[in-house]
Amino acid sequence: MFKGLGLIAGDVSKEKPRARMTWTALPITAAGVFHLSAVAAFLLTSYLREAQHKRDRMAICPICRSGADVVESRFIDGQTFRCSKHGEFQVSNSVLNVPTLMDADTNQWETALKRAAWRADPGLRPRIFSYDF
Ligand SMILES: [Zn+2]
Repeated sequence: MFKGLGLIAGDVSKEKPRARMTWTALPITAAGVFHLSAVAAFLLTSYLREAQHKRDRMAICPICRSGADVVESRFIDGQTFRCSKHGEFQVSNSVLNVPTLMDADTNQWETALKRAAWRADPGLRPRIFSYDF
């Protein structure tokens, strides 16, 4: 009987800190979850904004198909690319809009770039037109 009571008391005293822990832990967890979700939402929106930004500016070099930047320029009838291998050059819409030219192999593109570079004024970016192919 006494043993039994002791056991119950022991169980209760064991139970108490656990219960207290859950009650104190609960508001912290709720605030923590709320805080984390706010941080996660912020990180997600900034990540998406960054991804959108990158999508706007990242391109594929039409010459070598590796990653290139699209450079803001006053050249409105085409796009300006910056490639680590081919430098900065412009491609006119007369090429960008023609899939067969865009699918030309690297040799054909490099020839077109050479022609455009030879024609370009000193200090200006080569501008590739359809007749460079
Ligand atoms: Zn390239």
